[in-house]
Amino acid sequence: MAKRGLSVATIAAQAGGYIDAASGGVVPPIQPSTTFARDRSYQPHPTGNIYARDDNDVGRIAEALLAQLDNAETALLFPNGMAAIAAVFRVLPGGATVLVQSQIYWGTTKWLREFCARRSVTLIEADLSDIGQAQSLCAHHQPDLVFIETPSNPWLRTTDIALVAEATHAAGGRLVVDATAATPILTRALDFGADIVMHSATKGINGHSDVLAGVLATNAPADSHWQAIAIDRHDAGAVIGSFEAWLLIRSIRTLPLRVERMSQNAQAVAEFLQSHDAVAQVFYPGLPDFDGHSVAKRQMVGGFGSLLSFCVKGGAVEALRVAGQLNLFHRATSLGGVESLVEHRHTIEPHTGIPESLLRLSIGIEDVQDLCADLEQALTC
Ligand SMILES: *Cc1c(COP(=O)(O)O)cnc(C)c1O
Repeated sequence: MAKRGLSVATIAAQAGGYIDAASGGVVPPIQPSTTFARDRSYQPHPTGNIYARDDNDVGRIAEALLAQLDNAETALLFPNGMAAIAAVFRVLPGGATVLVQSQIYWGTTKWLREFCARRSVTLIEADLSDIGQAQSLCAHHQPDLVFIETPSNPWLRTTDIALVAEATHAAGGRLVVDATAATPILTRALDFGADIVMHSATKGINGHSDVLAGVLATNAPADSHWQAIAIDRHDAGAVIGSFEAWLLIRSIRTLPLRVERMSQNAQAVAEFLQSHDAVAQVFYPGLPDFDGHSVAKRQMVGGFGSLLSFCVKGGAVEALRVAGQLNLFHRATSLGGVESLVEHRHTIEPHTGIPESLLRLSIGIEDVQDLCADLEQALTC
């Protein structure tokens, strides 16, 4: 199904070349039916459709498109990113060992800690952007599954996918990469050796803050772990609705454009903040003196994404004052949407070591001078 060779901009703009066979439409129809009629001899409809949990035509189109964007053989959509992550871990046998990057998306960490304790799965959390540490933990613990998030949220730690994949495979495990902040436009994690790439499509892939969705993609559809995930999705029912899948396809058409503009804007905002007297530190992989910059340059193409964090001088009071003073940035969680957002992560997760002075920004597609002017007035007033 995957049309190798075309650039992502072309694949995305044309929704993978989709033409509706019944109408000639260049946009797929939404089929809301949950059930499909059989004929008088009780044979299913020629489409093979029986029941909407698996038989969601517009969902299949979105999956084929997402697979192409990630240079994957196949993809599975889930109702949100957490459902996709949960599916990856839920199918592991009891007694398994998992090695998971520390200080990533808090929802992942929280769910995993509770799940692993309940299911006697050994959970090892470590900073796997430290490649020496990743290698020695893989060799020592022989994890069944290694899970990294790059760039990470909200620290923007950048992890070398190829080196972690090598260490994981040498230990007999599988590597899953949460590439939400990068999107398939900037990083195709499977090309670097990941076994499964995961995205919260709620974020950049949809990009309009109006759909919850998650996706997993792989080049090894026959692998027993992937097969178990596909069966679990069907049996446990973590599927996406037709309307959401349809909106995703609509959004993906402009994904490369949006990611390009967001990355340009975020780079400019990061540079602006770095040179500002009221700012103590900026976390963005596009800054040449940032820790993960050289790895990011190797595995991110065309920009460094929409997500960045910075610490203001003066602690929690000053950080909350700046957030409160912003006029254009919405004070809201999430990332990757066309509108810029600011978040004080310490308020949300006060126990995970995030500095009280840290503000996380998701940079949208607005005029970058407007964004910098808004930050300037908030930082200096
Ligand atoms: C938001 C997010 C998730 C979870 O996705 P949902 O669609 O909100 O369930 C997972 N990983 C990262 C990096 C995220 O930003």
